[in-house]
Amino acid sequence: MSTGTVAAGRPEPSAEPSAEPLGGSSAGSAGGALDGAAPPPRADRAARAQAAVERLRATGVEAVAVTWVDNAGIARVKAVPLTGLVHAAQWGIGAAPCFDVFLADDTIVSSPLIGGPTGDLRLHPDVERLVPLAAQPGWAWAPGERYTQAGPPHPGCQRLFARRMVAAAAERGLTLKAGIEVEWVVALAGPPEEEPRYPTAGPAYGMQRLIDLSDYLRDLLRALGEQGLTVLQVHPEYAAGQFEVSVAPEGPVEAADTSVLIRQTVRAVSARHGLRASFAPVVEAGSVGNGGHLHLSLWRDGRNLAHGGPGPHGLTAEAEGFLAGVLGALPELLVLGCSSPAGYLRLVPSHWAGAYQCWGLENREAALRLVTGSTGERATAANAEIKCFDATANPYLAIGAVIAAGLAGLDQRLALPPEFTGDPAAAAPGTVPRLPAGPAEAIAAYRKSATLREALGEPLYEAVLAVRQAESEQYADTPPERLAAATRWRY
Ligand code: GLU
Ligand code: MG
Repeated sequence: MSTGTVAAGRPEPSAEPSAEPLGGSSAGSAGGALDGAAPPPRADRAARAQAAVERLRATGVEAVAVTWVDNAGIARVKAVPLTGLVHAAQWGIGAAPCFDVFLADDTIVSSPLIGGPTGDLRLHPDVERLVPLAAQPGWAWAPGERYTQAGPPHPGCQRLFARRMVAAAAERGLTLKAGIEVEWVVALAGPPEEEPRYPTAGPAYGMQRLIDLSDYLRDLLRALGEQGLTVLQVHPEYAAGQFEVSVAPEGPVEAADTSVLIRQTVRAVSARHGLRASFAPVVEAGSVGNGGHLHLSLWRDGRNLAHGGPGPHGLTAEAEGFLAGVLGALPELLVLGCSSPAGYLRLVPSHWAGAYQCWGLENREAALRLVTGSTGERATAANAEIKCFDATANPYLAIGAVIAAGLAGLDQRLALPPEFTGDPAAAAPGTVPRLPAGPAEAIAAYRKSATLREALGEPLYEAVLAVRQAESEQYADTPPERLAAATRWRY
């Protein structure tokens, strides 16, 4: 199968928010106007898609899957035959606004500004990111962005939100690089109600696991490479059947796209090997879980702001302010970065999940881990890792919200508190604040966050809240084993 991204231009968002009703209720004002000019003419988008179609046809592609990730963290999809791609790029594919209030188990709730059975949106494939899927022969994939039927951006579109936050950083002369580590548990294929059975009993990080699954892992690496991804490493993780893959940093929106692409590639390769993958926070209650650690670095004029500054471990004042903003906002950021109530089964002390609201150099128990890299490569390698996030996050929301919180900290010139070294669980009680231990606490913090409300915009802010609130109530009295079972094969 052919390689890399099939490039073409992406539609630029319009500056105008939607004034159309979304799903039978008034949309209200949209969340922050998007930067940039009006979208290129529909004919332009069609021409770009046409060029991509020629290339895709030559590689045997017959159909294109266009995904978006909902507020519950589930990737949903609409697909078109290759012959329909030009029309999809020009006019979008129909997608109901009520997808914004789907829960992970497909229950549909409602929110004040988005929801209800009426209305329609247009899902536009980002033709620039179109890529043939190596483990799904005949298929290509593109991430989608949602616009209204009248043309302006849908204020509930999570990917457009992430792009707005990237634009907000750019207004300050800043760029970001990001990467999301993907952890998963692989089990033998079976019905959803069946307890997981693992294809390897090898020890944590053990070579035995790699030997047992060497064909699988080789096929996965090959597929990721053919899809244009730069894999840094793959390794067995701690929990039974658990693996991790990490890729090179890239722009924030691209990194979110990549995390979606990696997960669907893992699923597809798993299926071809008679296996199934779970990215759920915990596959078995009480075990070490699957994280979705987010790495970020902040750059100005080609210089990494986490290096060569007067702050702790070489942070510049801007990087320190950014990270202090993120650290202070972690309780509310969990609403975006740790979406499912099941995430709190993972987010427990001494499980490398970052359950404490502190930061530390190379500290795997700190929610914010500073990574400087080795002497000699620090100028490029230094970054911060948010460890408390998992793969139930909508990656566009998580990254966009982190940028919003970081920029608020930078604008206020915040300073980091003293760093914490060692396991905070071993410190005297109360020394290090614990992150929320359940969704209700995180939701309460989110309700108080003016920064996130303003950044997300009212419709998206409210839709996220409606989904979180509903899932929090849905699982309020569910014992850990049942919560793990209920979410195991949804993510
Ligand atoms: N699996 C751990 C988690 O739940 C992380 C392990 C690691 O540090 O890579 O986040
Ligand atoms: Mg890991």
